[in-house]
Amino acid sequence: MFINGEWIQSDNTFAVYNPANGEEIGQVTDGTRDDAKRAIEAAQAAMPGWSALTTYQRSDYLRRAYDLMIERKKELAELMTREQGKPFKAAMAEVQYGADDLLWVAEEVKRSYGETIPSARPDQRFLVQHMPVGVVAAVTPWNYPVSMITRKVAPAIAAGCTIVLKPAEATPLCAIAIFKILEEVGIPAGVVNLVTTHDPAPVGEEFCTNPIVRKLTFTGSTAVGKKLAQDAVPQLKRVSMELGGHAPFIVFDDADPVHAAKGASLVKFLNTGQACISPNRIFVQRSILEPFLAEFENRVAKMKAGNGMEQGVNIGPLVNEAAVKKVHNQVVDAVEKGAKLHAGGKALTEGGLEQGHFYAPTLLSGVTEEMLIYREETFGPVAAVIPFDTQEEVLAMANDTNYGLAAYVYTTNMSRAMRMFEGLQFGMVGINDINPTSAAAPFGGMKESGLGREGAREGLMEYYETKLAGISI
Ligand code: NAD
Repeated sequence: MFINGEWIQSDNTFAVYNPANGEEIGQVTDGTRDDAKRAIEAAQAAMPGWSALTTYQRSDYLRRAYDLMIERKKELAELMTREQGKPFKAAMAEVQYGADDLLWVAEEVKRSYGETIPSARPDQRFLVQHMPVGVVAAVTPWNYPVSMITRKVAPAIAAGCTIVLKPAEATPLCAIAIFKILEEVGIPAGVVNLVTTHDPAPVGEEFCTNPIVRKLTFTGSTAVGKKLAQDAVPQLKRVSMELGGHAPFIVFDDADPVHAAKGASLVKFLNTGQACISPNRIFVQRSILEPFLAEFENRVAKMKAGNGMEQGVNIGPLVNEAAVKKVHNQVVDAVEKGAKLHAGGKALTEGGLEQGHFYAPTLLSGVTEEMLIYREETFGPVAAVIPFDTQEEVLAMANDTNYGLAAYVYTTNMSRAMRMFEGLQFGMVGINDINPTSAAAPFGGMKESGLGREGAREGLMEYYETKLAGISI
């Protein structure tokens, strides 16, 4: 753990495993609620000094952290592949994405402009300025163990806040590596604090109930997000929630089915389906269903599961055995209720994969709304294809979910693209595009996919309070 500028190790530790082969890759200090409390107090003590720096000074630390992250890109990516399982190439892309957040925020924070507002009174002036919200508590998931951290830490400390972060218990080593970088660039003691633990609930309780914490920012499942948001209500803490998704991927018959199948398979199997923006229902207009499925099947057949450090592997392991069971349960349920299984449909337990948590890339068609996969987030490598006939019908089906994070539309008709963009109740819509994300673009969801945005100007503003001065002159 890193509290008040010091690395803290206790005899009480928990093990971290490589999900590709079950190997123990490290022991990490098991923090307690008391440690969280101490970290919060250290963050409070550091607040006056840190928030008094100019945005130029704070920006400088972030830019140096960006440089170090890029310098260590390969090392960080290797660690990520060992700890989280994603293929090395994808890990390299994530480190870049995570570093981009540092640089983009370092540049943008210098433009945290206020406003002057005309008054109805001739002897009055209004002035608006942005002030840091205060001490921030952050909780991050394991699926993007580097970028989910920088996406919170960068805007928080750029705005002048101090922060205590609890990473996921499956991926604390990536968090430690990022905090080492923040330490090395000389960020003052107490500004950034890391509490690792195998038991998140007590630390979460401290985050939600300690009155020093003024903002809670969480990325993870909708169930845990709702609980933490509720616990933060009595003190009216600011909350940002980046939660689960159930993305529709819609392919109209004016689009090239081969191109669309390529896009759908790439984004579906990204991070072995363990992404909040992963397509959970793939809607294909009936007249192009056949060529779409044929191309998708071809692509699935060429996929190779294995250890992400091996050449040619594009399907990594799932996070644990519970995830394998959940995914398999959805597949069995769908097949029992009439879906057609084109490929996969089983855990992979042979050929060197026996010690890992692997599931075969799976393609289902004929998925209907009675099936679990139609509503539940899969978080695994299963593509569920559903035919549709009309634009109105598919828009209604796509919106028929409590989630509202990402959606995708493939069409060559401009007005249809625009109408779908406006009609889809999702925070991010990829139009003939499978990656509507960037440090410069607001990321976040509607409905039960979350509150607030990360990245972009919106993400930075989440860490500011708006302060007004009414001045009589
Ligand atoms: P999770 O909710 O189980 O865990 C997320 C984090 O919450 C972890 O750090 C965990 O330790 C912590 N946590 C769990 N219970 C807690 C408690 N009682 N108090 C405090 N902290 C607690 O989710 P997960 O399985 O790690 O991540 C997958 C989920 O995250 C998916 O639903 C995915 O869609 C979502 N996600 C969303 C985004 C986004 O930006 N919207 C990004 C990545 C992942």
